[in-house]
Amino acid sequence: MINRELLSKLTSKATPYYFYDTELLRKTIQEIKTESNKYGYQVHYALKANTHDGVVKEIVAAGFGADCVSGNEVSYAHSMGIPSERIAFAGVGKTDHEILTALRVGIFSFNCESIPEIEVINDLAAQEGVVAPIAIRINPDVDPKTHEYITTGLKDNKFGINHWDFDVVAERLKSLDNIELTGIHFHVGSQIMDMTVFEQLSLKINKIAAWFKENDFHLHHINVGGGLGINYEAPVEAPVADFKGYFKAFHDHIHLEEGQELHFELGRSVVAQCGHLISKVLYVKQGLETQFMILDAGMTELIRPALYGAHHDISVLTSDLSREKYDVVGPVCESSDVFAKGVMLPKSKRGDIVAIHSSGAYGQTMASSYNMRDLVKGYTTEEL
Ligand SMILES: *Cc1c(COP(=O)(O)O)cnc(C)c1O
Repeated sequence: MINRELLSKLTSKATPYYFYDTELLRKTIQEIKTESNKYGYQVHYALKANTHDGVVKEIVAAGFGADCVSGNEVSYAHSMGIPSERIAFAGVGKTDHEILTALRVGIFSFNCESIPEIEVINDLAAQEGVVAPIAIRINPDVDPKTHEYITTGLKDNKFGINHWDFDVVAERLKSLDNIELTGIHFHVGSQIMDMTVFEQLSLKINKIAAWFKENDFHLHHINVGGGLGINYEAPVEAPVADFKGYFKAFHDHIHLEEGQELHFELGRSVVAQCGHLISKVLYVKQGLETQFMILDAGMTELIRPALYGAHHDISVLTSDLSREKYDVVGPVCESSDVFAKGVMLPKSKRGDIVAIHSSGAYGQTMASSYNMRDLVKGYTTEEL
């Protein structure tokens, strides 16, 4: 955690900024490797969670592949040294330019979400004189029991292909020469804490994989996506997610054919806990019934509370021990620019340093410059 030496480094940088604890990141990566290697599973890192170079370098060094959701992410993954045969590309709206980028990089798999998309990939692959490896993203209709905005695997979500369309898809696939079906792909949502969701998913996958086998498709891999949650309430007590239980849930319930690979796409669980948004108290303002702690960071740096009502633990790193109740807010001209309401925190004053924890995932990558604010920077332990 944050000790005296680290604190003096943290206070030497201009706020607000993201601090990424490299030691915790390495520990988390090691745990993922240990637990996934037990079963020979392949792990892709979902880049959209965090693309700070210093963070990505640690993940590349661990040998993980990448899961990308845009052409720029594909190019970035490639430029950071992730082998092309370990890059997956998902997304409901891939443009021609993005598809061409990925075809030229020569990626592991296009995770496809509709027949029209598969047809476009086939045409562009023909034009390039290649055969594109595709996996179809299937909507398994599994409820991840998480926030509605991060639920992606229910039958009325925009993602994936539904099982009642399999016959049509299968027919179409057989008629296209420049694509090859290599796998099936799933991703049911994010911040999933209930391991029975992964059991349910495994059981659905077994049925779906059996259908493909019966219809003479040989699936080289099954990709179960990401979604493992982290403990936002207790980042100190639970800094590393339950990777052991997670991989075991699949191992215990999924049926793989001889030689068939199982792939994962982990984002949040890799990087969330190593990141802290470091900010400064600008003003403490006494309202009628509320005391506002106004920070120099807001929804432009970390939008999750405003977007999903997400909880992030907050610490005042430089203050005395007596506690008071605060609404912790940002400076942006929006009423939703609030990090926490009615929280007990050390009595604070202008200039105190505040850390907003568990913000390494979907923090910096979702930042904006709304209100013409400066785009937030990030530093790993070594970069401080
Ligand atoms: C976002 C995303 C992931 C990563 O999800 P996490 O919940 O961060 O682990 C994996 N796969 C796909 C297709 C995604 O869109």
